[in-house]
Amino acid sequence: MATTAINLTPKDFKGKSDPDWCAGCGDFGVLAALQRAVAELGLRPHDIMAVSGIGCSSNLPGYFNSYGMHTLHGRSLAMATGVKMANHEMTVLVTGGDGDGYGIGGNHFTHTARRNTDLTYVVMNNQIYGLTTGQVSPTSSMGMTTKSTPFGNVEQPLNPITSAIMNGATFVARAYSGDVRQLTNLIQLGIKHKGFSLIDVFSPCVTFNFINTHDFFKERIKRLEDEDHDTSDWKSACEKAMMFGDTIYTGLFFESDRPSLEDLEPILKTGGPLATRKLGLDQEQAQKIIDRMM
Ligand code: SF4
Repeated sequence: MATTAINLTPKDFKGKSDPDWCAGCGDFGVLAALQRAVAELGLRPHDIMAVSGIGCSSNLPGYFNSYGMHTLHGRSLAMATGVKMANHEMTVLVTGGDGDGYGIGGNHFTHTARRNTDLTYVVMNNQIYGLTTGQVSPTSSMGMTTKSTPFGNVEQPLNPITSAIMNGATFVARAYSGDVRQLTNLIQLGIKHKGFSLIDVFSPCVTFNFINTHDFFKERIKRLEDEDHDTSDWKSACEKAMMFGDTIYTGLFFESDRPSLEDLEPILKTGGPLATRKLGLDQEQAQKIIDRMM
């Protein structure tokens, strides 16, 4: 992570377009927390690449002033892994929703956690597909009535926290978009952490999810910071993460210092980022290879 002495403010990370999200959408809080987090860390827009997939929340890189990539549905972690391997000195943020990341991109979620790639993954989890107007998602509660489940959802929801821990992620947290201060702090810790950081954020969809609303979370959320929680204890972390009744915990559930993919990759140990190295081919050799491939 590169840092600088100059002081930027959250406004310096405002993108060229304004969000087209519905009034009251939880994603506004996540965007504000991200802008505040990177400004307070002293990062500059060109230190950061924000990568997303498809969905309402995946439009975020367009509203955020940094390098950005709006990629394919469910493929943000795969693209971000490529970015990180090409330039491991860059801060790589990945943003998207529960359908994009845990459904379409579930395969990449599993393997990025296993590899422990140094990415900060902020998932705006609204427990529904919002952009496509309200279908059941992998985190929708059982019994939930949606456009695609008119008789109620019969599937068990995926738990992102326990899944990430069991698959090897080394920084696993949950937040609520209405608590911007806690979310900002978790994003900052996630960026500073060397390895795969998941921050799953309850980010209510006010247009299509009438169950998991702002009021629903405000009545139930308790912060792990206020409990005697040991973040090195994966078993306790999983037990607390599975509570989804009158009490729902937010905060840092689990952290470990297992080496990241970049730390273990021999080719990255010396010589700087791949993106800035010389190709090692002269013009003629490079042209021959290009001609053979065309
Ligand atoms: Fe947000 Fe839902 Fe509107 Fe999408 S449809 S912008 S998730 S409130």
